[in-house]
Amino acid sequence: MIEVHDLHRHFGGFRAVDGASLQIRTGSITGLIGPNGAGKSTLFNVIAGVLPPTSGRVLMDGEDITGLPPHELFHKGLLRTFQMAHEFSSMSVRENLMMVPPGQSGESLWNTWFGRKRIADQERALRARADEVLDFLTISHVAEEKAGNLSGGQKKLLELGRCMMVEAKIVFLDEVGAGVNRTLLGTIADAIIRLNKERGYTFCVIEHDMDFIGKLCDPVIVMAEGKVLAQGSAAHIMENEAVIEAYLGR
Ligand code: ADP
Ligand code: MG
Repeated sequence: MIEVHDLHRHFGGFRAVDGASLQIRTGSITGLIGPNGAGKSTLFNVIAGVLPPTSGRVLMDGEDITGLPPHELFHKGLLRTFQMAHEFSSMSVRENLMMVPPGQSGESLWNTWFGRKRIADQERALRARADEVLDFLTISHVAEEKAGNLSGGQKKLLELGRCMMVEAKIVFLDEVGAGVNRTLLGTIADAIIRLNKERGYTFCVIEHDMDFIGKLCDPVIVMAEGKVLAQGSAAHIMENEAVIEAYLGR
């Protein structure tokens, strides 16, 4: 689904991404690991149109998407999760889901402005969908809670939930498990697996927790110093000398 060719992103003279090439297979849950400062988040930001590349190309389903802005990528079904914006924290969890930008490719719930009944119908549909998502994520009990009051893990689930309100093809998750307790990490993993199996979402996941990566991801791509160091199954990666060096050598 995604091909990255010889991608560079420099900051002044510093090469945060330094000639990375990789592929993300349709239907996979691909892991992206590497030491702090390896360039993982920068790579995500370039793929997701948040940062322009210094050079190199990104293709999605064979189409050149290099440097397209996030809203255009969103319409193509490419999503990157972000931490919840401040202004959303005083809204309820359900309202947060209902605020997701209108759908893609003519499917927009907001397309038709004819008559109040129509709008009321659409709002009802949106609400029903939000409730389905909350149920899927096992957080129905906090539907009315202010999003700002959620635990770290519940906020991560809400981020995933916002991806589920639209028809995503590929979702990029940056450190989805950071600061999340074991139980919720399991719920997040289950949600990712179900979205992958039942809805056909492809994922690319940055995560430090190797248990999580090992259970979820195949293949796993290892970055270090802006480059792709290795790629393979989690078990294969753990035995790779260069990978061990990159982690333990600093
Ligand atoms: P990772 O996500 O793998 O920990 P990052 O992509 O966040 O790594 O960062 C890679 C390197 O690029 C780091 O050394 C970081 O300090 C640097 N970097 C990231 N963003 C910027 C920026 N906006 N300006 C300057 N340096 C940056
Ligand atoms: Mg990072």
